[in-house]
Amino acid sequence: MKKSFEFDVIVVGSGVGGATFTDYVTRNNPDLKIAILESGPHRVKENFNQKEIDMTAMYFNRGAVLSKNLQVGVAAGNTLGGSSAVYTGVSFRPPKKVMKNWRDDFGMDFLSEEYVTRSLDEIEKEISVHELPKSWDNDNNKLFRKGAEKLGIPVKRLKINTKECQQQGFCNLGCTTGAKQGTLEVQIPKILKRGVKIFCNTKVVSVEENKVNVTVQDAPDGTLSNSMESGDYQFKAKKIILAAGVLNTPAILLRSVSQLKLKNKNIGRYLTLHPAFNVNGIHSKDVFGFKGFPKTVYADHFSASDHFYLETSFYFPGVTAKNNQGYGESHQDIMKSYSKMMSILILAHDQAEFKNRINIDENGNTIVDYCINPQTKEILIKALQEAVKIFFAAGCEKVLVPASKKNPLIKKDTEFINDLISEKYLNLFKTPLSSAHPQGGARMGTDPLKAVCDTNGKVYGTNSIYVCDASLFPTSVQVNPYETVMLLAKWIGENVMNKF
Ligand SMILES: Cc1cc2nc3c(=O)[nH]c(=O)nc-3n(C[C@H](O)[C@H](O)[C@H](O)COP(=O)(O)OP(=O)(O)OC[C@H]3O[C@@H](n4cnc5c(N)ncnc54)[C@H](O)[C@@H]3O)c2cc1C
Repeated sequence: MKKSFEFDVIVVGSGVGGATFTDYVTRNNPDLKIAILESGPHRVKENFNQKEIDMTAMYFNRGAVLSKNLQVGVAAGNTLGGSSAVYTGVSFRPPKKVMKNWRDDFGMDFLSEEYVTRSLDEIEKEISVHELPKSWDNDNNKLFRKGAEKLGIPVKRLKINTKECQQQGFCNLGCTTGAKQGTLEVQIPKILKRGVKIFCNTKVVSVEENKVNVTVQDAPDGTLSNSMESGDYQFKAKKIILAAGVLNTPAILLRSVSQLKLKNKNIGRYLTLHPAFNVNGIHSKDVFGFKGFPKTVYADHFSASDHFYLETSFYFPGVTAKNNQGYGESHQDIMKSYSKMMSILILAHDQAEFKNRINIDENGNTIVDYCINPQTKEILIKALQEAVKIFFAAGCEKVLVPASKKNPLIKKDTEFINDLISEKYLNLFKTPLSSAHPQGGARMGTDPLKAVCDTNGKVYGTNSIYVCDASLFPTSVQVNPYETVMLLAKWIGENVMNKF
């Protein structure tokens, strides 16, 4: 028989949703016995070395879980701290119109303007959200401003959550100094002091009422060792909080459908990805975009009219090579210009559709079943056209475009951009679309015919199972999502806490 352990609360996942939830629950309930089960290893900042070849091991599938149709690669952290160990820390509050939609269409009445403002004031203070000084803008950020302002596009400053940041550059490979105020630095140290137990390398396979079935694997080399031997175990708890992220929470529920006798057709559905193109222009001078903090400015100018954001970005060499099409010598030539590259991230606001979903294969593994729809294609094309204009206005000589008649585009193509970049040249099977902001799959709402969880996060049709992560989003939040995940986790943490 499997060895079993008993707790009051089991939290599955130590990322943004799971660790924030645990922080709120333990504030006023010091006697609760709580365990976090985390599939990733325990890495601390001393384990991070900013080398792409080593640090991409912090992600599921090295940073790209490919959609079934191979159109999009989804990035998510599989390490203590979850995606907050690899995120950039760009901090956005959810747009008011999205919150209104969630209240009006999904009955999430708790998200009043007053509650959202008060909660995020508190959260942002705790995790040190602030605007970076202009003196930190590296040349990539300065060029974005220059190009956009030449075209009359207003540029805004991003807020991020760091403390004493050393501007090392590659935040997405883990922060070696612990400046990034993700759950590894903020919530996890606090909850460990309050007596919460964390079991790493512990993958939750399925759940039953009050039971969690797990497989423990050996800790990989170079990470902290396990407190348990590898093997299968069962944990028992009064409440089970699924915070395994969008790629995994719906998959755990789907693997548990028969034990829980769930009939809800919405499980895994309404997945949105906030699909992104990272586009590079090649400047006449060195840009050294990899030096300093990668992103300090953005433009939301096109958000209401054309449904996309433009943010600055800069990625490590392997990802940059993947983001640019081609192979062989011509591709090597592109990469030789790495130090001259300017970089813009396009983020499209996609719609929540029933057909887009997280599913599982016959072995229970996650399948991302997502298809870019015609409206998102249109958004991506318009966004590419506008981004390319910014590159040339900023002084780039060439721009490498994933959907154009010719590649690269050169400066004198500027006046023909709207003809050269169009849907007929967008081959979604050859373009490097990515997503770091998956949302949905266990949407929250008052109507069980439209949602998977009620407005306390409890899974309809269960007594003890809750969801507390980005899977809850009923639609795309349309901005970088971590603050909204924290907002929902605070609410659920406080509500579940009141019920003890
Ligand atoms: C590279 C990158 C950059 C990003 N940058 C930003 C940014 O700048 N701003 C922003 O707002 N958002 C950003 N995001 C998105 C943000 O990190 C996520 O929206 C947020 O972390 C989602 O929180 P979550 O709790 O749903 O999932 P996560 O934080 O991913 O946590 C899920 C946890 O569950 C664990 N887990 C998964 N399956 C199991 C299982 N079966 N058993 C046990 N544990 C399991 C995972 O290992 C992980 O630790 C970024 C994401 C990535 C990947």
